[in-house]
Amino acid sequence: MFTSAKKILIKKLQKNGITDNSVLEAFLKCDRHKFIPEAMSHFAYEDTALHIGYGQTISQPTTVAIMTQYAKIQKGDRVLEIGTGSGFQGAILATMGAKVFTVEREYDLFLMAREKFDKLGYGIQTKWGDGSIGWNEFAPYDAILVTAGSPSIPEPLKNQLAIGGRLIIPVGERDSQMMVIIHKTGQNEFSKTELPNFAFVPLLGKEGWTKK
Ligand code: SAM
Repeated sequence: MFTSAKKILIKKLQKNGITDNSVLEAFLKCDRHKFIPEAMSHFAYEDTALHIGYGQTISQPTTVAIMTQYAKIQKGDRVLEIGTGSGFQGAILATMGAKVFTVEREYDLFLMAREKFDKLGYGIQTKWGDGSIGWNEFAPYDAILVTAGSPSIPEPLKNQLAIGGRLIIPVGERDSQMMVIIHKTGQNEFSKTELPNFAFVPLLGKEGWTKK
């Protein structure tokens, strides 16, 4: 179902710089239409963010693909996602063979995503809470993806990265951010790359924005 729409989307992702075949294959395998309200399923394979309720969005496919490509996922990697939302980003990571842990602060979205992961057979660990402080219990992670915009880089997330790990996080103002890619090269050593022009909903919480 939706195979030709998926193939058109994948061509767009390639045009937008996605070259990692394991990312493109995950987009072919994952059913984005199952992660959005049914009434919007005809928009599922458009390269746009969509509203999923509670003032939140499922990110634009190109953005999900860019973040995933920078995360350099290998089978068996332990990956933390902050901002479960619809569950689609988590599903992409799990399809690539990652062991996925994901945190969502909106209780209803957390419940819906957990139910979806169970129904679709993704073995993803979910948590309801403030992901701006990470999920220390299962650290260290090979990659951490934050899918909400933060005013700064939360220290706990840097601490919860394994050496060699990658942190992908939008950082900046409430309505526009740079995508920051941090590599943990040693116990207290990090390298940083930035990509301009992203717009995420705010990361709310102790290490994020304090006001809704
Ligand atoms: N990754 C999601 C997907 O695939 O659909 C998109 C996430 S949406 C752009 C951002 C999500 O981050 C929202 O669901 C929002 O409730 C959540 N969020 C914001 N602040 C958070 C926090 N401190 N901890 C966990 N989730 C948070």
